[in-house]
Amino acid sequence: MPSQLAHLFFAADALGSALPRGAFHTVTAYKGALGLGAQGPDIFLHNRRSKPSGLRYGARLHRAGYGTVLAEAAAAAAAAGADPLGETAAYLYAFATHAALDRYLHPYINYRAGRRERGRPETALLGPMHAYLERLIDTALLSARLGVAPCDARFHAYFDVGSQLPQPIASALAVAFEAEIPSARRDGLLYERIANGYRDARSYYAWAHRDLPAARRAAALSAGPLADRMRRLAILHPEAVPLGLDVLNLRRRVWRDPCPSGRKRRTESVPQLYAEALDHAVPVVRALFSLLNRGSEAYAKTAAEPNHPTHTPLRPGSTAPSALRVRTLVGDSDLSDHYNRPSRCSKHYSNPLPLYRILERQLLEILETAELTQRGQPSERSAGRATTPHERS
Ligand SMILES: [Zn+2]
Repeated sequence: MPSQLAHLFFAADALGSALPRGAFHTVTAYKGALGLGAQGPDIFLHNRRSKPSGLRYGARLHRAGYGTVLAEAAAAAAAAGADPLGETAAYLYAFATHAALDRYLHPYINYRAGRRERGRPETALLGPMHAYLERLIDTALLSARLGVAPCDARFHAYFDVGSQLPQPIASALAVAFEAEIPSARRDGLLYERIANGYRDARSYYAWAHRDLPAARRAAALSAGPLADRMRRLAILHPEAVPLGLDVLNLRRRVWRDPCPSGRKRRTESVPQLYAEALDHAVPVVRALFSLLNRGSEAYAKTAAEPNHPTHTPLRPGSTAPSALRVRTLVGDSDLSDHYNRPSRCSKHYSNPLPLYRILERQLLEILETAELTQRGQPSERSAGRATTPHERS
C-alpha cells in the first residue's frame, strides 16, 4: 500500500477532477472522511492492539474483491438514503480511489523495497523496508506538493471521524464484506472488527502525525532489540528524503515488474504512475457520484410516496446498472499490481534501494542526540530501556 499521505493527495486529486466544483467543496469539507476513506482497507493493517482485529478483512480486500465491496457498500449506503454530498458519500468517493493507486504504485514499490523471503537469510532485514519506502515517497510528494516536511505538517485530522466510526459507514462496510466474503457472513464479530480497526488506525494516525519528532524519538528509544526499533521507526515519516536518493525515480532508472508474468523493463517515475492511476480513478468516482445521486432520488421518492399504489421504488441495489458499472470499473483483482490473474503474483524480481542502511543511520542519529541531551545520565542506547511507545505496525 502506498502510505497515508499519498492516498490522501490522490483522493483529493481524483475527487477534484471527477466531481462538479460545488460538490467537490462540499464533500471535501468532511476532511476526516476524505482522508480515512482514502486509506481503504489499510486501516485494518495498522496498530491492531484491540481484539478482535480486522486484519483478515484488510488482507482479503487487498487480495481480491475490491470492486465488489465498493459497489456493495455504495448500494447499501444509497438504499439507506445517504446524502450524495454527505459524510458517508465523502468516505466512499475517497475509498473508491484507493485501489487504483495501490495497483499502479505497488509494482515499483515492491521492486525497490524488496521483501523478506523464506529460506533466504540475506533478505531478513528487508521486512520493514516496504513501509519505509512508502513513507519516503510520501515525504517526497509532500515536499513537491506543499513544500513542507512531515514534521511540520499536521495531518491527523484528515484521518479522524470521531472516537467511533460513524454507524452509516460501518454498516455499509459490514454489508459489503458480507456480500463479497463468505466467511464474513459467519463472523459474529464482524462489526467489532470494523470498529476496532478504525479505532486502532485512528490512534496510529494521531501518533504518527500529531508530534512526529516525539514519535520518532519514542520509536528509536523504545525497548527491545534494534530490529524491533527499526520496524517501529519504519512506519513513521522521516524528516526528509536523503539527498541523492531518488525515491520517485525522477531519473527514470530501469526497474522491472516484480511479477514473473510481467518481466518487462519499466522506467516510469512515481509521478507518472500516479497520473496513470488518476486516469483510472476519475471515472470510478464519477460513476459512484451518479450511483449515489440516483440512490438519493430513489430514497426521497420512496420516503415521499410509500403508499401510493403506482409507486415503484427505484432503489439502486448492488445489481443495478450503476452499481455494476462501479464494480466493473474498479475490478476485483489483487491490489499488489494492476493485472488480473487467478493466483497471486509471487513478486519474484527486486532490486532494493539501500533503505536499511539509511534507516539504521537515522535511528543511530536519534539515539546519539538523546545521549547528548542526557549527558551525565545513564545512556538510553546502551541500556535500551526508554519509555516504551505503543507498538504499531
Ligand atoms: Zn492498500
